[in-house]
Amino acid sequence: MNQNERICHEKTPKGIQTALDSLAMRKPGLSSLVSSFGPVLVAKAELTERLSENEINKTGLREFDWIRFHRGVHLFAITGLMDFRKEFKQAAQMILPPMAEAFAGIRPDIEAINSNIEDNSFDADDCVQAFVKNDTRIINAFAARAGTRPDIFRFTLAQIAEPFKQIQARAFSPMIEEHEWPHGHCPMCGSFPAVAGLIGEGGERRWLQCSVCAHEWRFRRHTCPRCENNDQNLFEYFSDQDSPAKDAEGVSVCKLCNTYLLTIDLGQTIDPVNMDVAAMGMIGLEIQAREKGYSPQAEMLWNLTMNETDVTGE
Ligand SMILES: [Zn+2]
Ligand SMILES: [Zn+2]
Repeated sequence: MNQNERICHEKTPKGIQTALDSLAMRKPGLSSLVSSFGPVLVAKAELTERLSENEINKTGLREFDWIRFHRGVHLFAITGLMDFRKEFKQAAQMILPPMAEAFAGIRPDIEAINSNIEDNSFDADDCVQAFVKNDTRIINAFAARAGTRPDIFRFTLAQIAEPFKQIQARAFSPMIEEHEWPHGHCPMCGSFPAVAGLIGEGGERRWLQCSVCAHEWRFRRHTCPRCENNDQNLFEYFSDQDSPAKDAEGVSVCKLCNTYLLTIDLGQTIDPVNMDVAAMGMIGLEIQAREKGYSPQAEMLWNLTMNETDVTGE
């Protein structure tokens, strides 16, 4: 696998901001989406930039661990997540204010959680442990104390944890470079992709980007990542002909598992691309796919508001 040809998109806070600005110019109808969710993307990137990959303990895997990995067990399930207790509070301070702005429907909930973290009413160790172990007892107790629902508290913790997963995925990436991963779920964290990038002549090689840890991995071009269906009669691809990007941006749907995946032909795009911002610009295609009865393989943040009652995307 040639790792040098990854999607190679712009991941710095400055690059993301530039991509957001150009999206708002290109599609003025999306400017409120850009101004709501853009700051969340930038805040997460700022946090990721501040963290150091060097602090992550890259323990070697035993032979038995590699057997599990080759059977499709994602790496974090084997190694565990990095310890982010020390940085938890700072991460919450960076991420939760823009989150509260973006999710107007649960703004008081996020603000209450943030102020409990701020004044140490919620202990960072407890929060991290509750998230890592999915400890329902602590989650329920803290949610009640903040006057919110457990699913909202869990969702908020997951948002704080995301940049840590990203930095760990980046640090662990060389470990799995030589190992085959023929699966549609992420080799690092096990999540599904929300967006794919096509590279090479005619977009022949497809890379998937994990919706949570942002890891990228090569995957068969004509197979559904979600259900591994490869019957070509069960796929459909459509693009937005009104968009300046035309065929470069599309959505492929799988009629077997009824899901869709946003797809960007990177050979046809001119500007440097940030995959998340590019996906944000494709919301019109997503709406079309949803209207046809398909669900996303993985939710992007701004999709969660499409269904206000279901903030967790579950
Ligand atoms: Zn992942
Ligand atoms: Zn499928």
